Amino acid sequence: MPKATTAGSLSTPAVSARLLWTALAVVALMLLVTYLVAFDQGAVSRSGMYLHELMHDGRHLLGVPCH
Ligand SMILES: [Zn+2]
Repeated sequence: MPKATTAGSLSTPAVSARLLWTALAVVALMLLVTYLVAFDQGAVSRSGMYLHELMHDGRHLLGVPCH
């Protein structure tokens, strides 16, 4: 009985570290996407709608009608 409890407590920190790094990666990705959308909409920079045009061109490349 105590052996199973010890094995469970040994594996918990490894799972927690992996979960922590996964959560940090997801948060970093969300921040990056938020920055890109804000950049595209002119909230961060007034460089135009580059991301929008890129996605628009991608739609045309796939043959999806949009006009
Ligand atoms: Zn179009």
